Amino acid sequence: MARRKDKQGICELCGREVEERTVHHLTPKDKGGAHKETALLCRACHRQIHALFTNKELADHYDTLGKLKKQEQMQRFLKWIRKQSPDKKVKVKTASQKR
Ligand SMILES: [Zn+2]
Ligand SMILES: [Zn+2]
Repeated sequence: MARRKDKQGICELCGREVEERTVHHLTPKDKGGAHKETALLCRACHRQIHALFTNKELADHYDTLGKLKKQEQMQRFLKWIRKQSPDKKVKVKTASQKR
């Protein structure tokens, strides 16, 4: 896989260096964000965001990394995740498992 390099790097939210980052659309695609800004996040952060917020909430209130970082529950999560090893598989508590 030639694109391996792009995936490896610093998570834009927690700042940890991870082996694989995933693309998060700051404005969800189904809210018109397909061509808007994206962020490269580790799996843990990415999952946490979608566990906490609906796509509508993301589009309306959390369409920048700055806003996400200021959100109270995210702050608590980030404080915790920064102490975790990037290799460790973290379990993220999901408020609702349905997608
Ligand atoms: Zn992260
Ligand atoms: Zn996402």
